[in-house]
Formats: sequence, structure tokens, C-alpha cells
Amino acid sequence: MPTPSNPLKAVRGTRDLLPPETALWNRVESIARSVFSRYGFGEIRTPIFEDTSLFARGVGEETDIVSKEMYTWEDRERFNEKSLIDAWLEGMGNTVAPIDRDVSIAGKRFDLIVRYISGEIEIIEFKHKREASLTVHVNQLKQLISDYAIASGTMAEIVGRVVFPSRKATSSKELISASPRIEVEEIVGSFFHSSQQLTLRPENTAGVVRAYIEHNLGDSGQLQKLFYIGPQFRRERPMRGRYRQFWQIGAEVLGPTTSGSESPLRDAEVLEMLATLLDELGIKGWRLELNSVGSAEDRKRYVAILRDALAPIKHQLCEDNQRRAETNPLRILDSKEPNDQALIDALPRIADYLDESSRDHFAQVCAALDACGVPYVVNPRLVRGLDYYTRTTFEFTVPSSGDSASGLGTQNALLGGGRYDGLSEMLGGPRAPGIGFAIGEDRLILTLQAQAEANKSGAPHLDSETWETKLDAYIAPLGPERNAAALALARELRRAGLTIEVGDGSFRLKKSFEAADRVARHIVILGEDELASGILTVKTFTTGEQTKITQADLAQSLRA
Ligand code: AMP
Repeated sequence: MPTPSNPLKAVRGTRDLLPPETALWNRVESIARSVFSRYGFGEIRTPIFEDTSLFARGVGEETDIVSKEMYTWEDRERFNEKSLIDAWLEGMGNTVAPIDRDVSIAGKRFDLIVRYISGEIEIIEFKHKREASLTVHVNQLKQLISDYAIASGTMAEIVGRVVFPSRKATSSKELISASPRIEVEEIVGSFFHSSQQLTLRPENTAGVVRAYIEHNLGDSGQLQKLFYIGPQFRRERPMRGRYRQFWQIGAEVLGPTTSGSESPLRDAEVLEMLATLLDELGIKGWRLELNSVGSAEDRKRYVAILRDALAPIKHQLCEDNQRRAETNPLRILDSKEPNDQALIDALPRIADYLDESSRDHFAQVCAALDACGVPYVVNPRLVRGLDYYTRTTFEFTVPSSGDSASGLGTQNALLGGGRYDGLSEMLGGPRAPGIGFAIGEDRLILTLQAQAEANKSGAPHLDSETWETKLDAYIAPLGPERNAAALALARELRRAGLTIEVGDGSFRLKKSFEAADRVARHIVILGEDELASGILTVKTFTTGEQTKITQADLAQSLRA
């Protein structure tokens, strides 16, 4: 039981974002939206949970994310109306002929209308639950019967029937007379969809590609440029810069091959956009690391070579890397385990096993970046953990030396991404090569805050306070009897587009001044004289200047 000394708290690894920090989040998101729109991206919002198999197939069963970090649960089974209809029809054998299924007449939906061999017509409703709702169903059915008679112009006798599933094996077909023209029937059987495994999304690329396939976005023949901003969920060990619910700002560029989606130009454009975004956000000292993991075939070949090279030295690696050597040897290249570094550096490099077209693709990406003046370093060990990556992979980091520079400690990767030419096919879709990235928004914010803090002594480049804007004015009513007038004045000013806070007439003037100074640029004093004369006293905090302004000129003057 929660108590005042032990109240409920946010779940471990999750956190609340509060003002004024949320102002910084909004600022970051608005800069991101502005950059994305200049590069022709549109926003996509996919569900926060998806069928588990999407991630198992897309991200890969052997990845850390899928094998141990997902929040997955069994969803409850769902009623399957169609299987109940089929069972009912089957039970009737050839005594009935369905006239219509799922038709709508006079704005109402009919589950099934059948004509008996005897000439009788029945309107049948298939319902999940019998209890409680029976009277409602019966009343609806009566209405449906008359609507149908009118709309179809039939002279035949029409009766209604409500059919419910019964899961008790003992209850046989049971007919209950509910109303002279309506019958109720129970059918034994299980008419439920089996339960479904669902997962809170640990990343958003698989969801975007699923949506691309589901909505046939490739049919337009156009390149799709989509961005998203939203929370992701991974059951990782929480630490600074690593949360169980964290936010990503990401984008994907994909499309049929004919749309140019495979072109190295796309890779370079995405990277150049990221450099612009980080610059506009004011992130200092970012570093772009780049590599190519080749085509799916290159990777297969390389992984085999890696396994051979690992076989004789495996036992010298840490436990985690020994496990990776079995399950996902590429991940060893990502390892930060200090004792394993020398061995890992000596392993074969993927760059030496790329086929000519992958090598050429990578060279073109680099050449385009050079032409744009975007600095990068090639890191042959950058392979990234997820199964779907092909060819270009990249990461942007901020220096972690001295920690204060990035605010991230060891979690110094701000964002990561890469090309995923085979992902759509892995999810059952058409060929749709693509490239994308995800920025860790939490880490971006931590970095901005740390860099602002570090710069405080010098020229403040990006102080948190510059992200927060002060309100235009604080209205201080003198005495509770002025409260209503203060609210009315606030309404007038707010509707004129100004940002306003209203104090309370019970405050002493000194308290009002202190409160106003914290949140607003001006204080407007509303006392008896001011109300009577319509001339208000306004003080500007930055200059200390105090003036009298008529109510008619107030909005104009506060704005200036
Ligand atoms: P990934 O999808 O693993 O490539 O991650 C992309 C980016 O998301 C990383 O570079 C991080 O900035 C961020 N990120 C990943 N996992 C977390 C986490 N648990 N907490 C905060 N940020 C994360």
C-alpha cells in the first residue's frame, strides 16, 4: 500500500519530463521538424505496440533487443465473428441460402440475411455476449426487420435471430424465445481468435516499413521520406542516458528501386541532413563514424570468415563475447569490453570482403560527403547490432572525455542508422531499399544541457534559459474583489495573442512582484483606482521602468 512516506513512483527506467525542461524538448522537436520539412520529409505516426513477430523478423531474433530487451505480453483472445457465422451456416446444412453478408441498409449493418427453403427470410445478428445486451439486440433487430422489409420491398415473412457462441460443451443448441418474431440461439464451440503476442516497440524502423507495405506506399513509384518522433521501449539496465522508455527522432527514406532508393546519393543526403540538424541544434563537437557492412551476401560471407577467425580465440574473450561468437558474431565488433579490444582489432575487416558494387556504393557516399564538406571518419568496426542493416552504417557521437562535454558518460552515441535494402522483403513486402536513422532525443537533450553548462563561463552559447521564454505579463489584482476583473483582463489580452499569468488578490504587493519577476517580463497592477480610471500601472522588469498605460493601449504596449 502506498503511504505518505512511501508514495507511488514512476517505474524504474522511466521518468517524467517537466517544465521548464519540456520547453527545450519542444524546441529540439521544432528544429527537427523544420529541418525535415526542408529536406522533403513528411511525418508518420505508427502504433506504439505491434505484433511481436514484426520485431522478431525485422530486427532479428538473435539481437540483444529482441532476445532480452522487449516488453512483450499475450493479448487476450478476440471474438471471431466470421467463424461463428460459418459454423452456424454449416449447422443449417442446405436448408438455407445466404442472400447477403455484411450488408448495410438504411444506414444499419446486417450480419447475415438468409432465405429458408420454406420461403421465410431471417435477419441474423451474431453477437459475442448474451448477457445484459439481449434486450438491446432484440430492440435493434425489430427495427432492422422493418427497415429491411421496406428497403428490399419483400412481401415475405421476416424473422430475426440472435446467435451467440456458447463455450460450454454441455449446453447443446438452445433456443430461447425472446419475442414473437425473434429467436435466440446458442452455438457450442470456440469462436475466438487465438491470443496474440504484442510488443512495445523497441525501435521504429520495422513499424515504418510495415506501414509502407500495408498501405502500398511503393505503388506511387515515388521515394518515401518519412520522419517520426516518439517513445521507444527497451528493458535495458537504466543509467544516465539510458532509459527503459526513451524518445527517438528518426527518419526513413525508402521506395522501389526505380525511385532511386538505392542510390548512394540518398545515404549522403541523409548524413548531410543530420550534420545540418546537429549544427542547427547547436551540438558542438559531433563526430560522424561511417562504415559499410556490404550486401546481405557480403555479410553472410564475412560472418563465416569471422566465425573461423573467432574459433581459435573465442575462449580468451569475455563471457558476453563468447556468447556472441555463437549467436551473432558481428556484435563482437561493437564490444566495448576493454580486455577484448586487442583481439577484436586483429579480426578480419568487413571492408576487405565487400563485393565491387558495395565498395563502389560506399566510395560514392564518401565522395558526396566530401563534396558537401561533411566531416566523417571510417570506422571498420561499426557494424551495428540489428539484422536488417546492409551497406552504409553510421553513428554520430559526442566526445565523452571529461563527461561534461556530452553529459552522456559512456552512452556517447547520439544517433545511429544505416541502410536496410532487404528489410521490406523480410517483412513480406515488395523490394524497397531504404536508409534511416534514429536520434536518441534524451541523449540529445542531456548533451545540449551539458554543453550549455560547460559554456556558461564563456559566451553562453545555449543556456537552458534561452529555450524558455518569459510570459508577456503578470496581472496582479489588489484585493480579492479585483480577481474577477483581473481574469477578464487576462482573457482580453490572451485572446489578443499575449502570454499572461494572473496572480491572486489575496497576495501582498511584494509577493506579487516576486512571483511576477520569476515568470513574466511585465507586471500589470490592477487596483481600485486603475479599475475606475481604466489607466493601468505597468512595470518592466528588465529596465525597472514603471508607466501608466490605458487599457486600450495595453496589448500593443506589452507586445513591444
Ligand atoms: P539504436 O536504435 O539502438 O540504433 O539507437 C539509436 C539511438 O537511440 C542511440 O544512438 C541512442 O542515442 C538512443 N538510444 C538507444 N537506446 C536507448 C536507451 N535505452 N535510452 C536512451 N536512448 C537510447
